[in-house]
Amino acid sequence: MSNTVNWKDLVLPHILSLQAYSSARDEFSGDAKVFLDANENPFDEEQHNWNRYPDPLQKDIKNQLSEIKGIASSNIFLGNGSDEAIDLLFRIFCKGGESNVITCPPTYGMYKVSAAIHNVENIEVSLTNDFQLDVNAILNAANEESKMLFICSPNNPTGNSLRKDDIQNLLEKFKGIVVIDEAYIDFSAQKSWTHQLENYQNLVVLQTLSKAWGLASARLGMAFANQELIKILNKVKPPYNISGPSQKLVSDSLKNKKGFEEQIKSILAEKDKLNQKLQDIPGVKKVYLTDANFILIKINEAKSIYQKLIEKGIVVRDRSNVKLCDDCLRITIGTAEENEILITALSDI
Ligand SMILES: *Cc1c(COP(=O)(O)O)cnc(C)c1O
Repeated sequence: MSNTVNWKDLVLPHILSLQAYSSARDEFSGDAKVFLDANENPFDEEQHNWNRYPDPLQKDIKNQLSEIKGIASSNIFLGNGSDEAIDLLFRIFCKGGESNVITCPPTYGMYKVSAAIHNVENIEVSLTNDFQLDVNAILNAANEESKMLFICSPNNPTGNSLRKDDIQNLLEKFKGIVVIDEAYIDFSAQKSWTHQLENYQNLVVLQTLSKAWGLASARLGMAFANQELIKILNKVKPPYNISGPSQKLVSDSLKNKKGFEEQIKSILAEKDKLNQKLQDIPGVKKVYLTDANFILIKINEAKSIYQKLIEKGIVVRDRSNVKLCDDCLRITIGTAEENEILITALSDI
């Protein structure tokens, strides 16, 4: 159970030798009561420390997450959303105009956009008709310049988890970094791949507080990887990438694990109800099985239904132009009341 690729050989040389920015607070450790090192305004009217730069390495949050997830702090990187982690991975591993990455549509749109921003070719290997990985096609499409493979499980927008054996196969055979995006893992009964970090040096797992934890506004994404790669991510990121107010909000929210678990339970119960009701709507051709907090449906005249819902003030996600998703709409599970409004509107249409 391992991969013969040496992940460090994949890091761009100028990144490996990069001397990280050393912030005023980085250079100091211990207790002090007078801080005259960072050109901050000394007045702290609201007593929140908002006048001070925040902890560049977010140690408090990492300790909390370490406990919650059962993963050492040294294996955790925090970004301004997982989108920042994705961007940094491109900076670390991909050379514009030369490298390529592999993505498996239909999937999360950000991998492709990030590739384009970095002038990196995005090789698309479609999922199979049952929305699973086409392992052989992926390995055949990969070449010397394929630096990263993005796997999203549970997958957005289809909602299903990708088969464990397929992912393991790719972790062992793909000669690059395998990024597994688990943005929806907290809604799923599947085990996280974070517990395989010791077996696979080329594994990066992404998670986020934007979905199950209800903190999309705080912008906090996590990357889990081997310790050395975490150090490189920290050296490439902007020094203060998570704001002080966000760190405080997140730290307070993470203390309420019970509330979080109750919300998930309620969302999953609502999902089952919505699933049933959607199947009874005329015109709905298919309600896909989902491990996430959204449901993909295939419905006659999806585009016009999408428009009519908007006219009623209801916004869902039109995915009908997406590969393998003809006539599909993606619906997030809302509150009981919101879901009822949606079902009533769909029935009326
Ligand atoms: C929503 C989502 C994210 C979240 O990104 P953040 O930048 O952390 O808000 C990441 N990946 C997938 C697949 C998503 O659907």
